[in-house]
Parts: sequence; C-alpha cells; structure tokens
Amino acid sequence: MNISIIAVGSELLLGQIANTNGQYLSQLLNGIGHSVVEHAVIGDNPERLKRVFNTALDNNDAVILTGGLGPTKDDLTKHTVAEVLGRELVTDSAALEDIEQYFIKQNVEMTPNNRQQALVIEGAEVLENKFGMAPGMLVRHKDKKVILLPGPPKEMQPMAKNELLPYLLDGEQIIFSELLRFAGIGESKVETELLDLIDNQTNPTIAPLAGTHEVNIRLTANGETVENCKALIDPIKTEILKRIGDFYYGSDDIKLEQALMQNIERTFAIYDGVTDGDLYSRLKDFDQEDRLLGMLPHNNQFISNDLDIKRQLSISTNIVKDLYKSEVAISLLYNKDTVYLGVLKEGKLSVQHFKMIQQRNLLKHRTQNYVLIRLLNRLKSQ
Ligand code: ATP
Repeated sequence: MNISIIAVGSELLLGQIANTNGQYLSQLLNGIGHSVVEHAVIGDNPERLKRVFNTALDNNDAVILTGGLGPTKDDLTKHTVAEVLGRELVTDSAALEDIEQYFIKQNVEMTPNNRQQALVIEGAEVLENKFGMAPGMLVRHKDKKVILLPGPPKEMQPMAKNELLPYLLDGEQIIFSELLRFAGIGESKVETELLDLIDNQTNPTIAPLAGTHEVNIRLTANGETVENCKALIDPIKTEILKRIGDFYYGSDDIKLEQALMQNIERTFAIYDGVTDGDLYSRLKDFDQEDRLLGMLPHNNQFISNDLDIKRQLSISTNIVKDLYKSEVAISLLYNKDTVYLGVLKEGKLSVQHFKMIQQRNLLKHRTQNYVLIRLLNRLKSQ
C-alpha cells in the first residue's frame, strides 16, 4: 500500500515537539512492506486539514492521522475526517465504558467533554487505547483505509503496533525481516551502492535506516512460512554483502563491540589517544574470554607529538604490548583532523587512517565505530 501520514498539532509546527509519531509509523509500516510516500504536518486548523486530507486520500491507498483526538482540541481530527467522508459520529459503548472506568479508577469526576472521546466515526473499526482514553479508528472508505491514532506517543505506539498492524498484514501471509547492521559507512554511500536494488525492490523490501553512527538495512519478506521468507531474503542479502560486506558486522540485535569480541581469538591491549577510554569500556563489557588485557591513555610524556605519526604508532603499540603482555596491540592517535589506527600483530605494524573533522564528543563516538569495524575485519578468525 501507498500510505500518507498526517500529524495534526500546532505544537509540531511551532517546533515545540518533533514529529516522532511520523518517524515511528514510517519504520513500522516500511518494516512490513508498505510504502510511506508522504508525511504532512498540519496545525489545529480544520480547513487546512480538510484540504490536505482530501488530497492524501485521493492519491494513496491509506491515510493515517495522528493527534487531535482528545477532548482539549474539540476533536478536530475526528470531526474533520467524518465531514470529508460524509459520515456521522456515533458513541462507541465499549469506549465510553472504558472512559468511565478510567475516571472511576483515577477517582476524579468525569467532565462532559470526556464523553466526546467515545465518539467514533460511523462504521469505523475501533482500535482500543490501552494507555489512554481516546480510541483509535480504522475506517474503510471505498477501497481505501483511513486510520486515526491519538497524539501522545505512549498511546499511539502500542496502538499502532498491537491494534492496527494486524489489519495491515495480508491475511494468508506472514512477515519476516532481518536487520543487517553496518558501521564505518555513511547512509548516502550505502544508498548509492544499493540504488538499483532499492529501486527494483519488491519482495523482500529494502529499507535503509540511519542509526547512531551506523546504518542498518531492514530486509522484509512476505511469504507463507518463515523458511519461505528467508529464501527470499537470502539472495538479496548475499548481493548486498558482496557490495558493502566490509562494513557489515552482524544481524538483528547484535552490537558492534559484541561482534568484535566474538570474533577475536588473540589477547590484545589498547593505547588510546582518541576515545578517552570509551572504546576499552565498550569492548570490556563483552570480554567473556578475557582477551582485552588493558588500556593506556595517551600521554605526551610517553611519546612526543613531534615524532612522525607512524613512529608514534610504533612506539605506542610496543609500549602496551610489553606492558600488558598481549599478542596484539592497538593504538589510536589523532592528528590534524585525522584518526590513525595502528595494529601491531606478529611483529608487523599496519596503519589505517580516516578523516574525522568533528567536535570532540562526536569524534569519540563516531571514531569508535570506524575503528571497531576496521578491527573486526583485521582481527576476525585469525
Ligand atoms: P490528548 O488526549 O492528549 O489531547 P490527542 O490525540 O488530542 O490526545 P494531541 O492533543 O494532538 O493528541 O497531542 C497530545 C500530545 O501528544 C502533544 O502535546 C505531544 O506531546 C504529543 N504528540 C502529538 N502529536 C505528536 C507527534 N506527531 N509526534 C510526537 N508527539 C506528538
């Protein structure tokens, strides 16, 4: 389905809050193979909402609206959508019961405007709100679906995932997805490398998602069984890894530092002139085999900055190797917007470097992922 998402609320336009509902729904829907083709944000203005909703409905298979269902805004979304669809609002007795119970439980008096929250669009399938009062709705209109969800994310998210999603899955089919995780590569580079695959995607769908200092690709297949879906995913995964496999570290819930520690067989130690010890802590959390023996922070007294960088890497790796008696030694140094990574293994020093012009805090975190993925490639299964 082609889906349009409309977020309603003036506070979104004023910049007081970010449209995280749009982001959440996009991820959820793309994850099950639908295409979210537009996001709109509208203030609490019925005329404008009417216009935007009308156009969205004309051009898409489904329109999802969030916000404006509560009593405070005169039920702007409900009224406007009902009007455009030419339907009445009717009281949903189950929703009214829930609302009354809610007030009894809270031990507060229910004001009349709260009854309005139990009004739903005639003919709608009601989506239960387990974390608030305003029910959601799914209205089938001609061959299209119109969906109304509450604004507060803590109500909207569980409703979308648990109540709405079953209506959007194809009856006979199941959905299965695998999240491929990449580090040390930017989102635009990923997209460029995979452009033809993304353009021609059918089943599975291919959705690149930017993470924090990493990029993920969700492959989602639609099929009769999990095996079926996996068989559809596998050739696309193989093709993707053929192109950007150097940056791949694992699938689904694995963490980058965990992937590295699972793949390392020798003992190692770190000389750290970049991440203030963060890299060590991240790795140490997954060091079940006691491979990471220690970390020494950079100090100009050990190594003069006047020496050329290769020499500095050579000295620093040897210092930690001797100090911690490790088989491998790693050194990280920063010089002139460039991060240098030295790996001393079997008496041979290899050096890699990459530009990192960033504020120090960001530098620390981005660098860690760039370093980890390179170390993974350099040290795995050896
Ligand atoms: P309520 O019963 O709380 O009035 P509602 O469905 O009418 O619910 P709104 O009044 O539009 O929802 O929004 C309530 C709150 O939910 C907002 O103040 C905001 O904090 C949050 N919210 C609304 N829309 C969004 C959005 N698109 N993204 C993130 N948060 C949102």
